[in-house]
Amino acid sequence: MLSKTTDWIITACHTPTRHGQTLESTRIFIVEDEPSIAQTVQFALQTEGFATEHFPTGSACLAALSTGTPSLILLDVGLADGSGFEFFRRIRQITDTPVIYMTARDAEVDRVAGLEMGADDYIVKPFSLRELVARVRVVLRRIETASVATAGASDVFRIDSVRRQIHYHAQPLDLTLHEYRLLETLLSQPERVFTRGQLLERGWDDPDHRLERTIDSHIKSLRNKLRRIEPQADPICTHRGVGYSLIPDA
Ligand code: CA
Repeated sequence: MLSKTTDWIITACHTPTRHGQTLESTRIFIVEDEPSIAQTVQFALQTEGFATEHFPTGSACLAALSTGTPSLILLDVGLADGSGFEFFRRIRQITDTPVIYMTARDAEVDRVAGLEMGADDYIVKPFSLRELVARVRVVLRRIETASVATAGASDVFRIDSVRRQIHYHAQPLDLTLHEYRLLETLLSQPERVFTRGQLLERGWDDPDHRLERTIDSHIKSLRNKLRRIEPQADPICTHRGVGYSLIPDA
């Protein structure tokens, strides 16, 4: 069940995107076998100006993908005709369209698995519609800007990859190699949640997945170094049981 909070009230907002294209042309597929959830999600996205199509099964979604791809897919993990993970694999054989998983609260392992398979984000049921719309916008924005953004560039952070140096609020950070690689990875896709496994793969030459928890101590030390420069800010977000993301302006 979705949560019944005031977040359900969403004001209509037909905002043009930065390229002047209206959101009506942004089509979102919702793959969800629970009619009440599907209906509410559809309503929320349509109210925000997105065009939506609902598929009660993974197979119906796959069939539709063979004739055209949407801008984004919201994919339930537990579908009547199979696992969302299996459908994700098959979706990826057809298209690179971003996918956000919708998963149950207690299924921490699903969130990690979904991200490590290459999903763009996950949202935990019950979720508020405000949160859902925000996640959708973040992923769409990330895809839209990915082609134009120089890797890791932001007003707050500046990466000098030649010198392996990262500046934070115009001050150089004194980082170990692993801290540098962790921060560089998080900055490469702001707001994207990276699992510990993914951070280990990118930051260590010889990643040993039994050591995933060492990521936590490196992140802790990284946070201390950032805090020394800007005590009020905390740009690194912890996603309990899953991993980390970074919001440069936080
Ligand atoms: Ca379901």
